Amino acid sequence: MKSIVTDYDRCFFCNGPAECEHHLLFGKGIRDLAEADGIKVKSCNRCHNMGKIQERIHDNPMAEKLSKMLGQAIWEKEYGTREEFRKRYGKSYL
Ligand SMILES: [Zn+2]
Ligand SMILES: [Zn+2]
Repeated sequence: MKSIVTDYDRCFFCNGPAECEHHLLFGKGIRDLAEADGIKVKSCNRCHNMGKIQERIHDNPMAEKLSKMLGQAIWEKEYGTREEFRKRYGKSYL
């Protein structure tokens, strides 16, 4: 399994101590695919889902969209074409 989670134990977003993992691609049925494909980064709880809305990924519409776009870009770099992404994930964010 490939993963862009590094050994470096820091939050991908703020460089603080890592406390959890964020799947760049997420949503119904999608998180499991992202787990299998290793499309995830380390995060701290504040940047992930516990900080103020403007400071976190989840429930922040623009951050969620950017996360999915980045996840797809990485997937296409590692695994295949946009058409293959669309087949596997059922949609395209790019
Ligand atoms: Zn953080
Ligand atoms: Zn997350």
